[in-house]
Amino acid sequence: MAYQLTCADTGAACPGSFTTENKEELVEHVMLHAERAHPELAGNPDMGAMVQTLIKTV
Ligand SMILES: [Zn+2]
Repeated sequence: MAYQLTCADTGAACPGSFTTENKEELVEHVMLHAERAHPELAGNPDMGAMVQTLIKTV
């Protein structure tokens, strides 16, 4: 089982998709990506909670 988050699910027009074996690692990847590509999301205090709700297991 792996964990996956598709960036477009956040509402961003972004082709980014992340898949990792580890949920904590996925959150780290997504946060780093958000800081680089979506500073408006990274600055949102709800970002962490939103990421958790968008994580899928594949
Ligand atoms: Zn993105």
